[in-house]
Amino acid sequence: MLTKEKFIELSQKYSTPLYVYDFDIIKDNVNAFKKAFCARKSIICYALKANSNLSVLKYLSLLDCGCDCVSINEVKRAILAGIPKYKIIYSGVGKSESDIKEALNLDILFINLESIEEMLKVEQIAKDMNKEARISIRVNPNIDAKTHPYISTGLKENKFGVDLDSAKKMYIYANNSKYLLPIGIHFHIGSQLLELEPLILSAKKVVELIWGLLALKVDLKFIDIGGGLGISYGNEEIIDLYSYAQGILSTLSGLDLTIICEPGRRIVGNAGSLVSSVLYEKQNENKRFCIIDAAMNDLIRPSLYSANHRVEFIKLALTNIEIPPLLLDSTPLHSRADIVGPICESGDYIAKNVEIPRMNSGDLVIIRDVGAYGFSMSSNYNSRFKCAEVAIIDSKDRLIRKRDDFNDLISNEIEFL
Ligand SMILES: *Cc1c(COP(=O)(O)O)cnc(C)c1O
Repeated sequence: MLTKEKFIELSQKYSTPLYVYDFDIIKDNVNAFKKAFCARKSIICYALKANSNLSVLKYLSLLDCGCDCVSINEVKRAILAGIPKYKIIYSGVGKSESDIKEALNLDILFINLESIEEMLKVEQIAKDMNKEARISIRVNPNIDAKTHPYISTGLKENKFGVDLDSAKKMYIYANNSKYLLPIGIHFHIGSQLLELEPLILSAKKVVELIWGLLALKVDLKFIDIGGGLGISYGNEEIIDLYSYAQGILSTLSGLDLTIICEPGRRIVGNAGSLVSSVLYEKQNENKRFCIIDAAMNDLIRPSLYSANHRVEFIKLALTNIEIPPLLLDSTPLHSRADIVGPICESGDYIAKNVEIPRMNSGDLVIIRDVGAYGFSMSSNYNSRFKCAEVAIIDSKDRLIRKRDDFNDLISNEIEFL
């Protein structure tokens, strides 16, 4: 747990806004998964999209993790960071021809197929390359994961995977193809899941299919149970990993399969904090705002998913700004305020209606649990720089990504006038 003093020191050393990750927490999270699944052959394939910083990936490679990638560039990041190719899987609904070619060339563990059309495309490309493509099929079990609609993926109205019947036909087809080698089956029903039951129900449906396939001589080696385990952003009760693993394992009895799990958020989410500085306070009639130097381009989760992050305040400014009597508003300052960024959008907020002390320019606001889908979803909107990122390893701070500079913003643009 990082102390107040450490956050102050880091803000002065690296400036703000700044992402800080505590790698000890990442290690604990990985070890908790390992321990839960220790009774079976298993691989933790960290879902790279949650946080794809190369140092994070490198650290995870040292903890024996694999990676679940959803673009070919994520595959390349994983390889660059030292994740072994035989622990890399490639998922996603829209892989292009060149993506597939590269993935086959890179010889990763398998490609997760999400449609019949994609399977035929992979077969054709493998044939052209005279290779056998190792594949897995993403099954959509049509189960309500009971999470935010934007991050629910396992319902038939979602774009992901194929239904159980289509999957069965695809396996039979692939098993007869000289260029396809079906070795796995995959499901992933959503993110920030707080209930165990939908996960176990999905596993049961998938295992039923596995038994049906065995009878048809389709002999799979891997069951990829996806990720999606939620973390506590406030007071939510989270899924116990031991119960999760036991629940999954109990569906697999009699089957000799290696388990792949793909946690993203649960590995890095609670390890990250976003350190920002207060710019101004203001009050518009009934509404009080605290304007900070972090914005929706740095952390889009509140704007996109109405996510609630815990925020903490560190008073640094020595004196309150003296407002001349002429400008003084007679209405007293509200105790509750919205914490907002400088971006020109009303949806640009970090937290709403929170109880905060009177803040001054230079005080710090720490936004908690932003290690997952924080920096990785950030952008340069409003021509703002993407943040610097710092890792805390063995109590030492290390810069693992420099803040953008102006040249980063414009370097790919071509002058045409
Ligand atoms: C995003 C994703 C994950 C990880 O989800 P978390 O909620 O971060 O655990 C796992 N598998 C697939 C296929 C994904 O798209």
